Amino acid sequence: MTILEQYLAKTRGSASLASAAPDVLPGGVVTDTRIFDPYGIYVNRAEGVRKWDVDGNEYLDFFGGHGANLLGHCPPAVVKAAQDALARGVQFAANQPLEIDLAREIIRLVPSAERVRFTGSGTEATLLAIRLARAATGRRKIVRFASHYHGWHDHAASGYAGEFDGSPAPGVLSAIADETVLLPPGDENALADAVARFGGDIAAFLIEPVGTHFGVVPLNPYFLHKIEAAAKNTGSLFILDEVLSGFRVAPGGAQSIYGLAPDLTTLAKILCGGLPGGAVAGRADILDLLSADPARRGGKTKVLHQGTFTGNPVSMAAGLAMLAELQRINACDRVNALGELARRRLNETARSENLPFHFYGAFSIFHVLFTETPCADMTYKDYLPRPQPLTNRLRMALNLLGVDVNTRCSGLLSAAHEEADIETLCAALIEAGKMLEA
Ligand code: PLP
Repeated sequence: MTILEQYLAKTRGSASLASAAPDVLPGGVVTDTRIFDPYGIYVNRAEGVRKWDVDGNEYLDFFGGHGANLLGHCPPAVVKAAQDALARGVQFAANQPLEIDLAREIIRLVPSAERVRFTGSGTEATLLAIRLARAATGRRKIVRFASHYHGWHDHAASGYAGEFDGSPAPGVLSAIADETVLLPPGDENALADAVARFGGDIAAFLIEPVGTHFGVVPLNPYFLHKIEAAAKNTGSLFILDEVLSGFRVAPGGAQSIYGLAPDLTTLAKILCGGLPGGAVAGRADILDLLSADPARRGGKTKVLHQGTFTGNPVSMAAGLAMLAELQRINACDRVNALGELARRRLNETARSENLPFHFYGAFSIFHVLFTETPCADMTYKDYLPRPQPLTNRLRMALNLLGVDVNTRCSGLLSAAHEEADIETLCAALIEAGKMLEA
């Protein structure tokens, strides 16, 4: 049987749901991230490092909950905190103490955070950060980097066409897209040109620090300092998007490792314990533009921000428990070490079995290149084209072997993973390699 035939036979329940879904859900999915040919598995239970689909198949999970599951699925401390909060009520339409507690904890952990405004997601966080930057500077343009993902709103999606290649995104006003300066990541000359051309019009430089697009394109930290300097020299703001890296690479995020001082930082994913929620943290004088008190705003006009679900008590409680637990068990150190081990062991396995894969990445992330070794002078464009049918078949083969990775066959380690899980992944890679050849 081919890989596809085996997949169809093993996931009949998922197939049946997938065939009904497109009549009610466009494309059959709720987010483009779940697009998978011919359909992705339907999961209804998860715990620790495992999840189970509707057919009862078990998967060792390296998808990482889109980066939110630093402690694996259902960490007991987070579940308990969320359950307790749920039982006390979820929509008070009033201020509540936990939002101050979580903001204090963010300010304690994230070096550049002086104030925090919660949002409903990472997308909302980058949207608000961009609005604040434009309000604070009175300027229009946002410089961002090809292949970097900052959510799906118009100001981040302009120039988005699957690979963030600068092609216009349908539905985004050209007036918005025109205010985006899209640069190749890591290219100092392009950065200098943009500064020379647009300097006085740039409201902010926006970048994701641990590499891009979930870290697919490696980024030299030196370049981050170049951007920080460019922002200072042009009087614009430096926005560091730590939605993925925040509380993962270190409790203080990538900025604490690289010694960066962003004006604004966007956070989500781990922040609310894997529940919906995000935040913009940063300089008091900029965040206070949201204040109703004119004195706090330095006489400037107030910036608008609302949200029925902003700072909801369940997300706040889950976030507090998550941040406490990740510090208590040194989760960031653990996942970083596991990430390094996974990349090393996967590459050893690929070499010893003559499999045409190379694994790379930083911190707790691994990515695959369908080549034996990357050459030294690869640019971001060399990393992006993924042989889609091959990626699809590899993930499908791994699924059949009881392992899940993301749709690009990248993976994230959680603190719940053990070294033995990495060996299971390597063993599955060997089998998947044989299945791909067959
Ligand atoms: N920024 C980065 C770096 C991300 O990785 C993501 C999501 O993957 C976002 C922003 C958007 O966050 P959300 O999916 O919570 O809207």
